[in-house]
Amino acid sequence: MSSTAWLRPRTAAEVTMALGLPGARILAGGTDLVPNRTWELDTGTTWVGIGAVPGTREVRCDAAGRWEVGAAVTLAEVLAHPQLGRHYPLWMEAMRAVATPEIRTQATVGGNLCVDTRCRFRNQPPIWRSGLIPCFKSGGDRCYAAPASRLCVAMLVSDSAPVLMAMGAEAAVAGPFARWIALADLYSGDGDRHLTLNPGEWVRAIRLPAKPPLGAFRKWRPRATMDFPEVDVAVSVDCDEEPRVVRIVVSAVGPVPVRATSAETLLESGPWTSERLAEAADRARAAVHPYDNGQLRVWGRQRAVHGLVLDALRQVASAVVEKGAQA
Ligand SMILES: Cc1cc2nc3c(=O)[nH]c(=O)nc-3n(C[C@H](O)[C@H](O)[C@H](O)COP(=O)(O)OP(=O)(O)OC[C@H]3O[C@@H](n4cnc5c(N)ncnc54)[C@H](O)[C@@H]3O)c2cc1C
Ligand code: SF4
Repeated sequence: MSSTAWLRPRTAAEVTMALGLPGARILAGGTDLVPNRTWELDTGTTWVGIGAVPGTREVRCDAAGRWEVGAAVTLAEVLAHPQLGRHYPLWMEAMRAVATPEIRTQATVGGNLCVDTRCRFRNQPPIWRSGLIPCFKSGGDRCYAAPASRLCVAMLVSDSAPVLMAMGAEAAVAGPFARWIALADLYSGDGDRHLTLNPGEWVRAIRLPAKPPLGAFRKWRPRATMDFPEVDVAVSVDCDEEPRVVRIVVSAVGPVPVRATSAETLLESGPWTSERLAEAADRARAAVHPYDNGQLRVWGRQRAVHGLVLDALRQVASAVVEKGAQA
């Protein structure tokens, strides 16, 4: 393994310049990048820290009541923050589901959104991989998980991504053309280059809505300890909007979180009877086709989508009733 240079720029412009160096990668908490480097899954040669850039370690509320959280704030800091916990309980649920308490003290908000995609054909030690002809993500010409696909379909495993999408959060992209984007627009759909960021761009912060919708989060994994998700579901309903806005996001089934739009439309257009909730869960299952690259079987993961969506919808329906709104 070659040696790695480590840079610690002090401004956003310097980070962008550093990312122009060959083999440059952002190193945030390193809980994903460092193991990937050890297994030679990541071949970066320059690590660029962002924690010294003003604002990246800050949590602040703007005049409109929207909370902005810097990309280098750790998950443990988010969980310990009293106002964030009160305003965004749904996000907290997802944060608590990430890895272990020890990893969460190191892992960051930006790193969790940008965490590399995973696949059981690739996330293996080099000696294991050397027995396979390289796939797309290893510079080859095939995909073992989806042989007919022209792109890598490795899974997005970020637990916060589906929840922040369901909440309508945004990400601040730093770089030559700094801008805010909807979180859904951060992901490309190609598991090999899974972010839409252009060269020199990076995530500086995220912004959460002043009035978060009601919601629920469910994660399915082999062991309820520190396993990566095999299916994530985030559901939200904004009853302050007329007509109400429903978002159903299913993640960890491919390189990009999937919106179950047909199920959303059903629940936006009528009462939430138990029959309609079951029909929405059916529609969500039909909309999602997990690829065969997780630890668990595809059929089991697809069935899990139904159960998790239904369970999450029931929780949200109860919360709506409790709030006194019309479900
Ligand atoms: C045992 C174990 C279990 C885990 N379980 C889970 C889990 O259940 N759920 C889950 O979501 N994750 C899990 N992870 C993965 C990882 O720990 C988390 O996703 C974590 O939040 C990553 O954050 P980080 O700051 O450590 O990222 P890093 O490792 O520093 O970076 C991750 C990737 O994102 C890029 N990056 C980091 N910050 C930025 C930025 N601001 N802008 C652009 N690119 C950036 C890096 O270049 C790198 O490619 C697990 C990891 C381990 C080792
Ligand atoms: S999804 Fe396909 S291309 Fe991507 S890492 Fe897995 S086998 Fe390789």
